[in-house]
Amino acid sequence: MNTDAQHLIAQHAETARLFGVDFLPLGNPPKIEKNEGTPSPRTPNDSSSTPAPTHAQGLSEPRLPPPAVSIEEIRSSYDGLAGAEDRLSALRAKYEADAPHARFEQGFTNIVFGEGDPQAELVFIGEAPGQQEDETGRPFVGRAGQLLEKMIVAMGLSRERVYICNVLKTRPPNNATPTAEESLACAPYLYEQIRIIEPKVIVTLGLPATHTLLQTQGTMRSLRGRWHGLPPALDEQIGIGGIEIMPTYHPAYLLRSYTEENRRRVWSDLQMVQGKLGLG
Ligand code: URA
Repeated sequence: MNTDAQHLIAQHAETARLFGVDFLPLGNPPKIEKNEGTPSPRTPNDSSSTPAPTHAQGLSEPRLPPPAVSIEEIRSSYDGLAGAEDRLSALRAKYEADAPHARFEQGFTNIVFGEGDPQAELVFIGEAPGQQEDETGRPFVGRAGQLLEKMIVAMGLSRERVYICNVLKTRPPNNATPTAEESLACAPYLYEQIRIIEPKVIVTLGLPATHTLLQTQGTMRSLRGRWHGLPPALDEQIGIGGIEIMPTYHPAYLLRSYTEENRRRVWSDLQMVQGKLGLG
């Protein structure tokens, strides 16, 4: 083999190593520590089973639900501002003031509102922060987050070029899957995030995010792999029009079921997104 070819192969291997292309279906599965691969029937969250830290208004002090806030009131917090970044900051402040999570059992440390390009064409939505997200205040930074980042890089993008957030902005106690009631209480802020960012495409990661956006109860098997629009009333409320939604498996689920078939499915969903956005 000539040295150019050797150099190219070495470069390719280095790129694969650096960018973790083992996400792609033909690579080796990431090493799963003992016990980490056990499927969890309760949640795709990727944090360990360490008990959640107790918040100041913690589990033993149930509080009365604050009144629900109207969409108009939420919007009035940011509508006068011009830039998407300022609008998102104002929305976050409104979320903190309204504290919809205070209606439910809590045990969180930090609010994880979302991060990335405030005008991203592509938004990823997960279900709720896990332990590491709770500790850092950043979405998808644990093991599932690292896999999500590999997917984003494999699509030819970076975390900075997309926006990443969750339906719930606070970690549920014991990483429980968000209930429909919790999702409903927090969803208006997610919808307003989408209204501000105006993405072309949204990838919903897992069922809670998919159900919150599509307002359906379908299974992931029946929903993934094809494009969806927002239901008409929600589309009208958000008011952008034409947003396309691709549901796919949550990366924490993928980590637990790291089969070639599942990786192929997720990769094929993401390739449809690449095609829609004219990437790669
Ligand atoms: N799982 C999620 O759904 N969201 C995160 O931010 C992290 C793990």
